[in-house]
Parts: sequence; C-alpha cells; structure tokens
Amino acid sequence: MLKALQWMVFAVAAVVGTHASAELRTDLRFYWKDTFSVAEQQKLEAWIRDVQTTLESMTGPPPFPVHVTFLRADDANRPIPWAHTTRGTRQGVNFHVNPAFSAEAFRADWTASHELSHLLIPYLGRRHAWFAEGFASFMQYQVMAVGGVVSDADLPDIYRQRFDRERRRYPYEALPFADAAPLLRAERRYPTMYWGGAVYFWQADQTLRADGQNLTALLRRYLACCRQQGHDLEGLVTALDQLAGRDVFSTRLEKFRSEPGFPHYQQ
Ligand SMILES: [Zn+2]
Repeated sequence: MLKALQWMVFAVAAVVGTHASAELRTDLRFYWKDTFSVAEQQKLEAWIRDVQTTLESMTGPPPFPVHVTFLRADDANRPIPWAHTTRGTRQGVNFHVNPAFSAEAFRADWTASHELSHLLIPYLGRRHAWFAEGFASFMQYQVMAVGGVVSDADLPDIYRQRFDRERRRYPYEALPFADAAPLLRAERRYPTMYWGGAVYFWQADQTLRADGQNLTALLRRYLACCRQQGHDLEGLVTALDQLAGRDVFSTRLEKFRSEPGFPHYQQ
C-alpha cells in the first residue's frame, strides 16, 4: 500500500513537472551570435526556459515575445560574465556565456532571474537606473526562491546581508538616495546603487503584505492590464498605486527623493 502510494506521488510529481514546462506561454525566441554546439544550445535554452517558467508561474507571461541572444565568453571564469536587456521594439536579453560551465552552475547563477525580471516593467531611462536595477535585484531572489535555487527561509537574511553591506558603503549621508544614485553609478559603485534601489521594492512588498497583498501578485495584474502602455517612472508608480488601491509606490518614491541617507529597511 505504502509502495503504491509512493509510486502515485512520484507519478503525479512527474506529470506536474512535465506539464509545467510544456505549459510555458511566454513567446521565447533564441538567437546565437556565435557558434554553439547542439548540446550547448540545448543546455542554454533549457536554462532560460526553466527560469522563465518560474517567473511566468509568478507573474504570468509578458504580453510580447522575449528575444534571448547568446554570445560566447569562453575565457570567463563564471558561467555568465555579462548580460544586459535589449529594449525598444524588441524586448529581450543578451547573455554572454561560457558554455563550458555545467547546467547546475547556470541554474545556481542569479543573472537570468535578474535580467528576465527587468522585462516586467518598461525601460525607464538612464536617470532612473536605480529604480530599474533595484527592481531586478529584489526580484531575482524572489524568482530563485520560487525556483528552489535558494530557500524561502533564507530570503530575509539574503536581503538583510546585502542591505547591511551597501548601507556601510554608502558615501552620501546628506543626500537622498535618488540624488546619490547617478553619482554611485558614475563611480561604478553598482552594488550600492542596485541594493539601495532594492530597498524600495523590499519596503513596498512589506507594506503590501501587511495589507494581504504582495508585489508579485501586483505585477501579475500590471502585466495583464498595463505593461504595454509604455509608462515612464511617474506613470508606472501611479499605475501600481491604482492596482494596490493605495499610494504605496508614489509615497515611497517621494521619500527616496527627499530623505537623506541610505534608505531605511528595518521592520
Ligand atoms: Zn540589471
């Protein structure tokens, strides 16, 4: 009886697993800028499908095709030394990869979770890079937790460690974070800009959760109703506030523009 039950559990898990990957609704399109073997292509496509399946399970599919381009970086000492989104008429990501790394090494890396998350909101311009990078940095660990790459229980510590580290590195105690961000960027203090920005979304998520909502659920509604409207930063926070039914995002943006020092993240 127990054996039969175990087998049934296994069979159901297998069906659910197959079902989940077969059900990917995102229109993913792959491009190979350099020469990749068939085995390399399969490994890299499977990696991106896996991450996008996780992201899609959280927010639904984006209402546009996602163009994924691979370039070789054979002497890199990491699986993905560099990646960036491509915006405008075609939404997508360029991944520079060293395909010698294993499927497990790609799966353990945060880059795809980060870059594919970027596409959930419109391109907001260079001036607001802190907002976009904060968003993708916050989201990458949400995606990795749902995908089982990090554990849910570790999430609070993961965020806290990064916030603590960058608060210590933040050099502009007299400046609001939104004003300091372009300076941080010019000085190539990218982690400080990214994780200071991530505090915005961590705070927004905490506020929404206190209300029985959460950021991911809100993004699912944003993707379905409003993602194609080409919002700028002000339009985006207004739309998110409307979906949340309260001014979670605009009020917080005002604080990031007026309160000096690294953003507060204590509960
Ligand atoms: Zn980014």
